[in-house]
Amino acid sequence: MEAAASPPILVTGGAGFLGSHLCERLALGSQPVVAVDNYHTGHVENLAALAPLPNFTATRHDIRTPLELEVHSIYNLACPASPVHYQRDPISTLVTNVTGARNVLELARRTGARVLQASTSEVYGDPQVHPQGEAYWGNTNPIGPRACYNEGKRCAEALFFDYWRTYGLPIKIARIFNTYGPRMATDDGRVVSSFIVQALRQKPIVIHGDGEQTRSFCYVDDLVDGLTRLMASDSEVTGPINLGTTRETTMRELAEIVVRLTGSRSVIVHAERQVDDPVRRQPDIASAKRLLGWTPTTSLETGLERTIQYFDKALTDSCSSVVAGADAI
Ligand code: NAD
Repeated sequence: MEAAASPPILVTGGAGFLGSHLCERLALGSQPVVAVDNYHTGHVENLAALAPLPNFTATRHDIRTPLELEVHSIYNLACPASPVHYQRDPISTLVTNVTGARNVLELARRTGARVLQASTSEVYGDPQVHPQGEAYWGNTNPIGPRACYNEGKRCAEALFFDYWRTYGLPIKIARIFNTYGPRMATDDGRVVSSFIVQALRQKPIVIHGDGEQTRSFCYVDDLVDGLTRLMASDSEVTGPINLGTTRETTMRELAEIVVRLTGSRSVIVHAERQVDDPVRRQPDIASAKRLLGWTPTTSLETGLERTIQYFDKALTDSCSSVVAGADAI
């Protein structure tokens, strides 16, 4: 008699930027990996390298409807992450964050799987505490245009903790700060991809506001390492745990680094500041260091060089749409 196949690790949003890198990392292991995605912002090509692997499967599914499969563990990444995308259909974003999280939690409850939620630094809103530690409750606008995302993510965190308190479900919550790298979409308006695409096309680099607002940029490989460590952590480690780099960079500085690394002739121009755009963002990662032994190791310059190489090739390979502006996310 054949031994029963081991249930897979499920990655929701597996065809997205972070999800595809996470699937690649997980597929190096012995456990099968299943990516589910509705391809709202993700792309089949992001998983092209994985498609031939016998331990990898990709399935079209929208997490707003319940999931029926046996799973070993779940990474819940399904949700558009850039403001351009999540504000295009804010009601769908909110439902994905809340009903989607509930469906994922119900699947975890039925199968006894560990479940990790990809939360975000956006739960801190425009923070009045700096740097942001996990104990800070945040300063969010519950009725603004970003609320579908940040309030949706806050509600998902609340649901995760209610499932933990009510059913003893093994939960993990990662609060992810700005992450960048190859396979970001050229047209999603995120600041790193936008600046790089503008620089490579010799177009003006558009900074919203005066450029003094800050973010802390984490390279995708480091972030994926943090997520897998959190999933493997002791069962009492629920999070929320901040994952990000502590190097704080202004938008002006980022634009200047991108211009230097691309050797571009682009000039920097300014456009109107976006609504509810946080002024400063920097994680306190003491918990991640202590509980996960995690610290990011890729410098901003090294990560940007790799990302620029990716976009250089992507732009050569295809005629992508012109990027109009950038949001500091
Ligand atoms: P992304 O938009 O590239 O990926 C999201 C993926 O989820 C896409 O493939 C999309 O098609 C899929 N998706 C969206 N709604 C879905 C639904 N209802 N059902 C099934 N699939 C759905 O974004 P990303 O940067 O890879 O972000 C992944 C996760 O990490 C998101 O939950 C995001 O909130 C979180 N996060 C990302 C960052 C970052 O800097 N990249 C920062 C904080 C949090």
